[in-house]
Amino acid sequence: MKFSKNRLKNIMVIGTGGTIAGTGEAGKTLSYQSGQIEVNDLISEIPDLKSIANVTSNELLSIDSCDITGRDWIHIANYINEISAGDEIDGFVITHGTDTLEETAFFLNLTIKTSKPVVITGSMRPSTAMSPDGPFNIFQAVALASSEEAVGKGVLIAFSDVIYGARDIQKISTFRVSAFSQRDLGCLGYIRDDRIYFYSSSTKKHTFNSEFDISKISELPDVSIAPFYAAADFHILDYLREKSKGIILSGAGCGGCSTVWDKKIQEFMMSGFPIVRSSRIANGLVTSEYISQKGIFSNTLSPQKSRILLSLALTQTDSIDKIRSIFEIY
Ligand code: ASP
Repeated sequence: MKFSKNRLKNIMVIGTGGTIAGTGEAGKTLSYQSGQIEVNDLISEIPDLKSIANVTSNELLSIDSCDITGRDWIHIANYINEISAGDEIDGFVITHGTDTLEETAFFLNLTIKTSKPVVITGSMRPSTAMSPDGPFNIFQAVALASSEEAVGKGVLIAFSDVIYGARDIQKISTFRVSAFSQRDLGCLGYIRDDRIYFYSSSTKKHTFNSEFDISKISELPDVSIAPFYAAADFHILDYLREKSKGIILSGAGCGGCSTVWDKKIQEFMMSGFPIVRSSRIANGLVTSEYISQKGIFSNTLSPQKSRILLSLALTQTDSIDKIRSIFEIY
């Protein structure tokens, strides 16, 4: 894609709901309802937006992001793939609830087939709060989506002056405005007003380099997460195996669990049922070096992101070896 230096970029803002579109008691940050304001009304109230981009909008969903499903992800990805194939839109902003923002971001990072910027944002305070953070986050997200530096970097997140990558972002606060982080992996850069400052980017495969094709599916293979904790009942693994095509172990430390859980996991893997070891710990690696079993390891992906990758992997293969190598690449 060629950006002409002299024209404003055409940015489409896609609404999906969340706190950013929420309303409640005037001035308060609690007791509000997500997804009440249409995206067009959200953007029309932001001063100066017109001076940084030609903005159009489309509402694809209007929900609390805890209600988002695999079908919704497929719908959003297919929509962006369709529009980005044309010449009219130079970049996208998605307004989204913060609770599952990182999951939608990672799914899109693996399934969108464009180098055009796709930036997700949200807010921690509803639009009716005393000092809502939504309008400024949208403004900065549009600035980032208009930036030539954002081209080809995969799905990005603009939140509270910071640029994050879809693979590594995690929500780390239940209510503070600076709600996101990449923990040990820092961030990709900063935004001051509408000025973009990049300092790093992910080395992992994404978007136009990704092998995953969701254009012909409407449902994702069901993958469950099994949370391990001291003295956890191993029967949950049998239950989850019955209902799912794969399991993510949210293990202790570097993907560990008790002897009885280990035995079950070995048994399932030997029969060809995929179990990915990940960790409930926010920082560090889960890799084969620390665990003697021949398994599938999440690397640095959280349990919820491992779930998305395993689900997409299962659209391509049942082979444990192939799934293991997918977890090394993405
Ligand atoms: N429950 C809201 C959501 O994820 C929270 C938020 O947007 O901050 O939709």
